[in-house]
Amino acid sequence: MSEKIIIVGAGVAGLSLAIMLAEQNIESQVLEARQRFDGPTSGVRISAEGVKLLRFMKVDAIGEETQRLDLRFGTLSASFSAPQRDATAIVVTRLALHEQLMKRALSLGIRVVTGFNVAAMSESAHRVEVTSDSRETVTGTVLVGADGVGSKLRHRLNPAQGSTKTYAGYLGVGFITGDDTKTEMTLHNYPGHRVGIASCGKVHEAARKKSIFMWTHIAMPEADAKLASRASVEAELARRAERWSPELGSKYRQYAKDAEAILAYGPIYNGTPPGRWYSDRMILIGDAAHPYGPGGQGISMALKDAKALCAVIACGFAEDNKREFQRSRAQESRTLGEAAEKRNAKGPPSTKWGILAEGLTMKAAEIFTRGRLEF
Ligand SMILES: Cc1cc2nc3c(=O)[nH]c(=O)nc-3n(C[C@H](O)[C@H](O)[C@H](O)COP(=O)(O)OP(=O)(O)OC[C@H]3O[C@@H](n4cnc5c(N)ncnc54)[C@H](O)[C@@H]3O)c2cc1C
Repeated sequence: MSEKIIIVGAGVAGLSLAIMLAEQNIESQVLEARQRFDGPTSGVRISAEGVKLLRFMKVDAIGEETQRLDLRFGTLSASFSAPQRDATAIVVTRLALHEQLMKRALSLGIRVVTGFNVAAMSESAHRVEVTSDSRETVTGTVLVGADGVGSKLRHRLNPAQGSTKTYAGYLGVGFITGDDTKTEMTLHNYPGHRVGIASCGKVHEAARKKSIFMWTHIAMPEADAKLASRASVEAELARRAERWSPELGSKYRQYAKDAEAILAYGPIYNGTPPGRWYSDRMILIGDAAHPYGPGGQGISMALKDAKALCAVIACGFAEDNKREFQRSRAQESRTLGEAAEKRNAKGPPSTKWGILAEGLTMKAAEIFTRGRLEF
């Protein structure tokens, strides 16, 4: 097929689509606003289904396998393991994942243009055109919006809908410190906050040591979240750490002493999935199509979108296939994304009694499910 596909955004969705298209000999070009991909990174969990798709793209051997989820509520604990499958979920840094996707994309000869901030787009009967904020233009036959939670293409396709991003109510904080010991994914519950910890493998390919990733959320108004500084985030972490268990406290002190430790934080945005995902020559995938914040599924969703859209493009980008793509992908995003949104919106209990009640519920769930759960 002789289509030239333009993909806006070199995130997981955009790069994965380009890789899958290249494997079908379909040419694409990726336009990315950022100049560089380094700087503070954080960890992410990729579900077993996502890991299978990464392997399918020959992106492998990254991150740390996580087969267990441990929950701690004071002295109470509950532990769940995932059903044994042919792939295991992993925790990996965004940087390590991006490095491997870029490496694979470049090995397939895919053109990734950085510093191209798409400002405008248009379509006619036979082609699409995108223009950057520095007035460069690129033309093609199909335009894919893989431009994330604040997607311009989503807004272009849904001008009347409130489809811009909305603030989720908190600052996402993650920090990474060198630690070769294997730590299973564990969620510790304290009044008013939770903190998660897991091994995440190497931060980037050249790193000498493996690391652990710790994460927590800090609720605050959007204006404060935008003004948060490293010093204010560290002061809040130190305040919280005074209550943490000795095990968690020692990991935190390790972070505080490590000159190479990484702290990443930022306001979290989400949004409402739009009514219209596509037009004659344009289509959305990833967070641009279903803009949800953290929930442990966004990356796998982006990978699955890429696989499904690759098939739609390979079959000629026909109306029926696009309609089915939107229907099936929206349905999955409602099941997974909205569940995650509800979980995040609820927030942790603010009293010791609330934590005890939650702990007892999870202990009962552990007994009832024999400690096996999809997560
Ligand atoms: C704090 C936090 C924690 C999370 N944790 C997890 C987790 O543990 N597991 C999980 O699966 N998911 C997690 N998610 C969700 C996950 O990060 C997203 O679902 C996933 O990154 C979506 O990928 P994407 O490629 O669609 O979008 P993005 O990764 O946002 O990529 C979009 C790309 O488009 C580029 N772009 C944007 N606008 C333009 C433009 N105008 N022109 C050119 N380029 C543009 C951006 O620079 C970016 O590179 C988390 C999200 C947050 C915020």
